[in-house]
Amino acid sequence: MSVIATALKHLIAAGVSGDDLVRAVAEMEAAVAPSPPARTARQERNRRYYELRSQGVSAKSWGVIRRAVIKRDGYRCRYCGVSVTVPQIDHIMPLSRGGSSRLKNLCVACKPCNSSKRDMTASEWGGVQ
Ligand SMILES: [Zn+2]
Repeated sequence: MSVIATALKHLIAAGVSGDDLVRAVAEMEAAVAPSPPARTARQERNRRYYELRSQGVSAKSWGVIRRAVIKRDGYRCRYCGVSVTVPQIDHIMPLSRGGSSRLKNLCVACKPCNSSKRDMTASEWGGVQ
């Protein structure tokens, strides 16, 4: 018998019922369920690659695409013009909004712009806040 089942048995035996029982189970489940550990940089990179692969872009071709975007745009943010040492690649029309990972939908962005823009289109976003 699980810890929760045992506790439940005791609560029922003690006359607890209805909403109090439901609340108690929810609290126990929350206490038992471990919170997911913070992702490492490598795990985050892997997650990103799997996400790309689910969109039909392999990790290998993402590397090729990324280099092509950097070659075209240079090490300069398309949105604010700042020069970047570690360019991020932004989906101009976000993937979540039906954008693609084709070159015409990608540009170099600095981290502040890319983080601030999130899943907005360039016109919705309107620049770093
Ligand atoms: Zn920028």
